[in-house]
Parts: sequence; structure tokens; C-alpha cells
Amino acid sequence: MIAVTGATGHLGRLIVEALLDRGVEPSQVVAAVRTPANAGDLADRGVGVREADYDRPETLAPALDGVDVLVLVSGSEVGQRVRQHGAVIDAAKAAGVRHLLYTSILHADTTPVLLAPEHKATEELIAAAGIPATFLRNGWYTENYVANLDQARERGEILGSVGDGRVASATRADFAEAAAAAAINAAANPAQEAVYELSGDEAWDYARLADAVGQVIGRPVSYRNVTTTEHEAILTGAGLDTGTASFVAGLDANIRDGLLAETSGDLARLIGRPTTPLLDGLTAAVGPSKA
Ligand code: NDP
Repeated sequence: MIAVTGATGHLGRLIVEALLDRGVEPSQVVAAVRTPANAGDLADRGVGVREADYDRPETLAPALDGVDVLVLVSGSEVGQRVRQHGAVIDAAKAAGVRHLLYTSILHADTTPVLLAPEHKATEELIAAAGIPATFLRNGWYTENYVANLDQARERGEILGSVGDGRVASATRADFAEAAAAAAINAAANPAQEAVYELSGDEAWDYARLADAVGQVIGRPVSYRNVTTTEHEAILTGAGLDTGTASFVAGLDANIRDGLLAETSGDLARLIGRPTTPLLDGLTAAVGPSKA
């Protein structure tokens, strides 16, 4: 059986869908979720729904009973994730899970990207547990930019401090399909370990992003670049606390430094098709009615 944690979240749900699309029998899929009541649609399709709360280790052992391959979707509570993931890894070890896949971040072991330390620590916990593993080191979701559409609608611009930095984004559906493909490979050969640096086929700059956003909302949009200091001041002026403002500006600095621009081709190879282009991904994310 293949279990997916966070299966009521955006990515986890898509991973379950991709497993089914790739021919895995619903009875062989477990949606391991914090709130089973939110997974009724998956249960209706024959997927096993089990409670698995990272904060309640007593739920994890029964959730993993009989599971051979576990896809651990990284949690969403930044700052709590090493402890939470550690609980899942301990339970996986105790349950005899034969292969663990983890949704990490590009070059988690070496990158200075601000979000990386929890992913690096999780990869280290998995290695220390001795469970054969696949690290799905995901780059940026195209859907992260849906928030920029409102700014563009209001002001005709996207503001940031990325300079000429590029992002090789891909859609959640692309990353989910990769996770499903890798999980199916792991089910066939659990001892085989892998590390994938997953990103979009094309690294675009923010002038391209502005152009794509403009096409989605039907009006011209430009990219306005500011310095990191100016960016922080604008964000705090808009009501963000200083910690959050410096974090957001710091991620832009990571992009400026090219840390999310890699186009290794791992993602396209794993899913057997090109990744979804930026404009298509944004259009799909907002849906035709909201454009
Ligand atoms: P979502 O916020 O949609 O999903 C996060 C999932 O984590 C949810 O299903 C949530 O459960 C689950 N979760 C959170 N806390 C717990 C807990 N204590 N116990 C069990 N489950 C828990 O995020 P996405 O699906 O979009 O992204 C998946 C992960 O990818 C994120 O959690 C984050 O680590 C990372 N990420 C990556 C980005 C990128 O660009 N590469 C961007 C943003 C996030 P519930 O459904 O009950 O809320």
C-alpha cells in the first residue's frame, strides 16, 4: 500500500489523484490526513482514509499499518516541522515502512534558501532512521504567484526585489505527478534510493511573470524592482511585522541569487512530459471565471 500524508492539502490531494490516474488501485492507496471528515470524496472513490496528525503521534502507528511506501508531504507550520516530521519518521520506522518519499526543497542539503533548514533536518532524520528514501526536492510552485494577481489588478504592477533573478516554477500538479511516479517506482523497488531536483523546464524572469499575469487579468502589468531595504519598508508599511517582511524580502533575495532558477530536467523526465508553462499554470490556477 502507498500512503500519502497531507492528502487533504493542495499537493497531497493531487498526489492521490495522480496515483489513481497512473493505475494504482484505490484500495492500495491510503490518504493519511489530519481531519478524515475532509476526505469524504476520497473515501467515496475507494481510497482508504486514515487519521494521521503530525502533532498526535498516537494516530500515526495505526495510520501506517500495512503501508509499504509512504509519501510524507512536508507540513505547513514553519518552525514546527522538524518535530512533526520526526514523529512521522519514527512511526514509519516502527511500522516497517519499506520506502519513504519526502517533499523537500531544491538542494536542501546545501542551499542557503531561507526555507531550507527544516527540509535539510528532515532529510537527515530520514537518513538516520535508515529507511530507504526518495527526496523529492521541489522548486517553486507556479501557484505561489496567484497572490500577485490582486496586486496587479489594483496597481498594474508586481513589486519585488528579485532583480534579474529567475524562477523555474512548475505547477503543483506537475510536482504531484512526479511524487506519484516516484512512489510507484519505490513500490516496485523499495530498496532503490533517489534524489530528484524538481523544477520547471524554463526559468522565467519577473518581466515575463508580469507579462503572463497581464495576459491572465487582461491588462498591461509591469514589474517594479526595489532594493531589499525598500522592499522591507514597503511591506512593513503595508502592515507586515518586521520578521515577516524581512522573510519575504529574503526569499526575493534568494531568487535574485538564482537559487530557484535551476532547470535540471528531472521533473520532466520523471513525469514523461514537459512541465506546465508559466502562463498555462497561472491560467489554470485562477480558473477562467476569476481571470
Ligand atoms: P497545503 O497548506 O495545502 O497543505 C499542507 C498539508 O499539510 C495539509 O493537508 C495539512 O492538513 C497538512 N498538515 C499541516 N499540519 C498537519 C498536522 N499537524 N498533521 C497532519 N497534517 C498536517 O500546502 P500545499 O499542499 O500547497 O503544499 C504542501 C507542502 O509544500 C506545504 O505544507 C509546504 O511544506 C510546502 N510548500 C512548498 C511550496 C513551494 O513553492 N515549493 C509553497 C508552499 C508550501 P489539513 O488539510 O488538515 O490542513
